[in-house]
Amino acid sequence: MDSNKNGIVLKFGGASVSSPEAFSSIADIILHRKKKYSRVIVVVSAMGDTTDELISLANKVNPNPPRRELDMLLSVGERISIALLAMALAAKGTEALSFTGSQSGIITTNDHANAKIVNVKPHRLIPHLNKDKIVIVAGFQGMSLEGEITTLGRGGSDTTAVALAVSLEAEKVEFFKDVLGIYDKDPKIYQNANLLKELSYKEAFEIMDKGAQVLHSRCVRLAEKNSLPLKVLPFSRFLEEDLGTIIQDTVRSKKSISYED
Ligand code: ASP
Ligand code: MG
Repeated sequence: MDSNKNGIVLKFGGASVSSPEAFSSIADIILHRKKKYSRVIVVVSAMGDTTDELISLANKVNPNPPRRELDMLLSVGERISIALLAMALAAKGTEALSFTGSQSGIITTNDHANAKIVNVKPHRLIPHLNKDKIVIVAGFQGMSLEGEITTLGRGGSDTTAVALAVSLEAEKVEFFKDVLGIYDKDPKIYQNANLLKELSYKEAFEIMDKGAQVLHSRCVRLAEKNSLPLKVLPFSRFLEEDLGTIIQDTVRSKKSISYED
């Protein structure tokens, strides 16, 4: 879909939207990227510990909540974030529009709490992107072929970001984190951990197998299947182009689009 219109997907996790003020900082990053990319699609997670809080709220009402209803509840966390982010951009004079996963055409299996993305039909997003608007999508959620609201499993917003980038043929996904990038071992435990500049998908899987929780592993698999480059970088130093870690194939081969299996 129009790969010559240069597009980027920006993903912000729960830690980067843990306070009301954080939305304004993220809006600045988005506006900076908008100067370079004509199509900017933003994916956000729920604020801070919102998802955990919603789960414990559900458990107080019913220790064994129906999974369909739990998905209905948990999908709200990301909806709070998208609306607030659109408001933060509006406060800076930029029109942005927020969309839920189902509005964005994220089509999933019907496995509540662990749904896989089987297709993306972003028909509602494209007209806004073509009009130069910033589009903000709720991570972690979709709609099953049966029309039910689903969630993708904990940490699933990363996979939403990659699926959208694949569908819209974006140049890459940038994941803004509270770390400088991906290290060869956990920098919080090992002082001699090295920051890595570039990794293949295979190397990224090896590091994640050793326990690094940098990205949702399903998103790396989806990126590998579609040869989509991923970048992990610190949100506090987003202007420094050289910072961060890139995950990509040395040769970017053109593959036909495929989603999760
Ligand atoms: N908010 C969801 C979770 O905490 C999804 C995500 O953060 O990616 O698992
Ligand atoms: Mg979260």
